[in-house]
Amino acid sequence: MRTIDGIEVEVHKLSFPFTLFAAGMGYKKVYLKDPLRASDRLVRHEMIHVAQGFKLRTYLWWWLKRGYKNSPFEWEAMEWEAEYRGWMNVNKDSWRKYI
Ligand SMILES: [Zn+2]
Repeated sequence: MRTIDGIEVEVHKLSFPFTLFAAGMGYKKVYLKDPLRASDRLVRHEMIHVAQGFKLRTYLWWWLKRGYKNSPFEWEAMEWEAEYRGWMNVNKDSWRKYI
């Protein structure tokens, strides 16, 4: 468990091979490479991906089309990751504004 912006979040340890290319993932739950040391910002970032309803095929399609940093899912996560309870601004369709 991890308290973030006053809310208890269930946090899991990210496992190999995902640890090779990600510090965290948000797929139904939050997964972190280093749960104890992860920043609040990273936890929020992954909670935003959970709120986006992460669909692997759609996510990968945009990743391949625009690259990781320019994917609409990442732009949305970066916009809200520093905001208090930033994930509350996100739903399963809101990422489309960043296309
Ligand atoms: Zn991300």
